[in-house]
Amino acid sequence: MILPPATLGMLGGGQLGRFFVAAAHEMGYQVWVLDPDTNSPAGKIADHHLQAAYTDFAALDTLAEGCAAITTEFENVPAQTLEYLAKFVPVRPSAAAVAVCQNRIHEKTFLQVNGLPHGPFAAIAGEDDLREIGAHLFPGILKVARFGYDGKGQAVVNSREEALVAFANFKGEHCVLEQKLALDYEVSVVLARDENGRVQCFPTGENSHMRGILDVSIVPARASGCVRNDAEEIAARIAEKLDYIGTMGVEFFVSRGQLYVNEMAPRPHNSGHYTLDACVTDQFEQQVRALCGLPLGESRAHSAAVMVNLLGDLWYEGDRYREPDWAKLTAIPNLKLHLYGKHHARPGRKMGHFTVVGDDPIQVQAAAMAARAAIGIKDE
Ligand code: ADP
Ligand code: MG
Repeated sequence: MILPPATLGMLGGGQLGRFFVAAAHEMGYQVWVLDPDTNSPAGKIADHHLQAAYTDFAALDTLAEGCAAITTEFENVPAQTLEYLAKFVPVRPSAAAVAVCQNRIHEKTFLQVNGLPHGPFAAIAGEDDLREIGAHLFPGILKVARFGYDGKGQAVVNSREEALVAFANFKGEHCVLEQKLALDYEVSVVLARDENGRVQCFPTGENSHMRGILDVSIVPARASGCVRNDAEEIAARIAEKLDYIGTMGVEFFVSRGQLYVNEMAPRPHNSGHYTLDACVTDQFEQQVRALCGLPLGESRAHSAAVMVNLLGDLWYEGDRYREPDWAKLTAIPNLKLHLYGKHHARPGRKMGHFTVVGDDPIQVQAAAMAARAAIGIKDE
């Protein structure tokens, strides 16, 4: 067990890293953050910010010497970086688990091999693959295998011809082509797994997206108890098969009442932010606990919750750049506002979120949607 006041290492300095630093500090740990960005939200509040690339081996040596254990908040940290660090200190999750989640071909193949439910797909390494795949995959979504996020690196393709054009636009990057499913709705499960294989799932949330980016998470999901339980069971099986240690997020589609795994994130997940305000233990404290070999905390929700993302679009009134009117949100007593301390707002950039909590899910949903409209978020 790694106990306070030990120093923990974090690869990545975004908002997920920042919440990890806050959770670790609360528990009496110190945190060093490695991130190339001078203005990284986590770097700004860390005990030490190593401003360096993820492949800077001198910086990795410094991190390994200074830290008792290392984790990540960013799934695109090169697996070689995690492997290298693991020679010197415990690294959780493992390079192998992260490698599966950071490549859509590996991810989908992993689901297939382990008999976990997923939608029809094909791995696309070249034009020939596109010429050979079955017509049942159209209309489909072509997604680059690596480095896609928030709907980036994706194209809806209605035919083989359109898929060939989209593939050329992705400059021959390896891709997956997924059948476009008719979605009833989307859910996600955030869980933590410790080194002894014990799993704590947070309650299943229901997610809606706007322009490919998470917009609202509702907890508990307005799904049948069956769907919620099955999602938690499948997510736990995924963590087990990956021998995962830490906090992870699993996204699901529900289509014609059936669950399909969409993707896994080897880190805390945006849809798990509600746990900060509605659960006995939050997803970042679980990450600290799993990393340090402590028993996991209780993941039970003590409140119903609705989380709403605050994107950079809110800072723009036409062409004018201005701070949103936060007083509209701070006036609401059961609303918790979280801003990530990012330097500059760009459209689509995640700048913060808020969570409304309460006893009655219906009232919480109504209050959150009213607050969302009051701060100026418009539906598409
Ligand atoms: P990202 O890494 O950007 O989150 P996702 O694969 O989760 O990428 O896709 C983003 C969103 O696009 C999903 O949450 C869903 O709303 C929609 N989507 C993605 N794949 C499919 C699909 N096969 N069928 C229907 N909708 C999809
Ligand atoms: Mg996604």
